[in-house]
Amino acid sequence: MSTEPQATTADGSGAPDADCLFCRIVAGQIPATVVRETETTLAFRDINPQAPTHVLVIPKLHHPDAASLAAAAPQAAADVLAAAGEVAAQEELESYRLVFNTGAGAGQTVFHAHVHVLGGRGLQWPPG
Ligand code: AMP
Ligand code: ZN
Repeated sequence: MSTEPQATTADGSGAPDADCLFCRIVAGQIPATVVRETETTLAFRDINPQAPTHVLVIPKLHHPDAASLAAAAPQAAADVLAAAGEVAAQEELESYRLVFNTGAGAGQTVFHAHVHVLGGRGLQWPPG
């Protein structure tokens, strides 16, 4: 068995990835405007907001997208959804949208699972 340190977490362990932007935010190495934190999740404002409220909720575990998070760590996935609802409540959003972009073709640019909480303006359907 290899004793090499794990540079990435493609094994699904959820261990931090030193090259991952959101793991670095969790570790406090990159600043973020945190609006909510639980034992398993972190919520912070998107740096390029697309609505008056645009918050990202992430699991502290590293998994590349929502489906792999749910498969490997279902409780953490549930915690992310619960935290998203709590953020919407604390932001006093009556209506809001939760978005999990999955894959580059769908607009995913950061491959650490996250849900966008968007609200504070009218939202069209279907999205672009
Ligand atoms: P996605 O395109 O779904 O992967 O979402 C990634 C989001 O992360 C984008 O909406 C970016 O604006 C946002 N983002 C990138 N870097 C930062 C950062 N340092 N702090 C907060 N949000 C960020
Ligand atoms: Zn990560």
